[in-house]
Amino acid sequence: MEFCSVQNARVQRQLSWQFHCGVRKRRACLAAFYYYGRMKLDADICYRAISEKDRSFDGRFYVGVKSTRIYCRPICPARTPRRDRCEFYETAAAAEQAGFMPCLRCRPDLVPGNSSVDAKARLAERASNLLGRNRRIGIEELAARLGVTSRHLRRALQDELGVTPARLRQLSRVSEAKRLLTETALPLTRIAYASGFASLRRFNAAFRQMEGRSPSELRKSP
Ligand SMILES: [Zn+2]
Repeated sequence: MEFCSVQNARVQRQLSWQFHCGVRKRRACLAAFYYYGRMKLDADICYRAISEKDRSFDGRFYVGVKSTRIYCRPICPARTPRRDRCEFYETAAAAEQAGFMPCLRCRPDLVPGNSSVDAKARLAERASNLLGRNRRIGIEELAARLGVTSRHLRRALQDELGVTPARLRQLSRVSEAKRLLTETALPLTRIAYASGFASLRRFNAAFRQMEGRSPSELRKSP
């Protein structure tokens, strides 16, 4: 994980000085931030910006809070996290890549510049990944883990993939079952359970509906 620091000490002193000079110098500081920020974010400046909920930094960086695994905009109304719990990222995508979920209060995933199209695609991808790790998860919990409402998730998946969340989960279960059927000799009951189905009956019904044949037929002639 990339930690942010300006390596040139002289630049850092200059930035801190400008920062501590307060509002009148803020514009100069911000200009310096943009200029040097292209190379690396400065953790001191970033932390000061989130402490003051400085609007001029909004969209310029994001703060990931290690204790909650949530990331925020600099202007988030939530209580300022402890300095040692903060990690700073230049983009929302970078924070998400590092495993942080968007905050529900300041919605860093909806900051201008992150187009809603990109946000939907990312959400769909994250939903698929999460389902790949937990095929038993309930739809409400899935949405909560992704930091969105189930209604928002439903709409995003519909726009992006043309499926409901439940259907996406079913697809994930059936594709895992197909893998296990062809790559292992596990009995069907074990495969049903391992791929996330609650019962053998449901497994058979879902499989037949999607694949047009039963799991045992697939195993006989893959
Ligand atoms: Zn927030």
